[in-house]
Amino acid sequence: MSSGYRLILFGPPGAGKGTQAKRLAEILNIPHISTGDILRGAIAQGTPLGQKAKEYVAAGELVPDSLLLDLIRERLKESDAQKGWILDGFPRNIDQASFLDELLAELDQKVDSVVNLSVPDEVLIPRLLGRGRADDTEETIKRRLEVYREQTAATLDFYGDRDYFRSINGDRTPEEVTESIQQAIGA
Ligand code: AMP
Repeated sequence: MSSGYRLILFGPPGAGKGTQAKRLAEILNIPHISTGDILRGAIAQGTPLGQKAKEYVAAGELVPDSLLLDLIRERLKESDAQKGWILDGFPRNIDQASFLDELLAELDQKVDSVVNLSVPDEVLIPRLLGRGRADDTEETIKRRLEVYREQTAATLDFYGDRDYFRSINGDRTPEEVTESIQQAIGA
């Protein structure tokens, strides 16, 4: 299974989605699509998207869906995404998840796996504080964890009863987690 895989990586901030997505994207030779990375790039470049998203990202709030849905649609239509992809940080609420279902039906693409990285809160906070990203201040971290619980965790119920859903223990070394994801998805 070196190509053609479509994987959604799910989990709270600091669970290791970005790290794992990078590793798996290389192993599976498919693009890593991170809405957080796209937004940070747009903010750094001062594009119209970046200007609109900036305050939300800095505050740890979700950026409005209206800024992201077209962006995801266009990204999944790009030629490199035809061989598969890893989504990291999207979907983050039920509306985004329903949108993605519809979009994938429209593009005739199917999700192969949704993998939830499960990591206890007491591990997440020190990990985030150690990362040093602009939105990794103590205040913003607190808010991002709240936003995860209030808006994003419900997305787990959306996928939880689908047969391609897996939850794995993300509180291990990056190597162990990668191996465990590969086993879980059979890739
Ligand atoms: P991340 O790199 O995934 O932790 O995302 C960083 C920040 O970007 C989040 O705290 C949100 O402000 C914003 N963001 C990323 N992905 C999304 C999304 N799917 N929906 C709304 N906001 C997002």
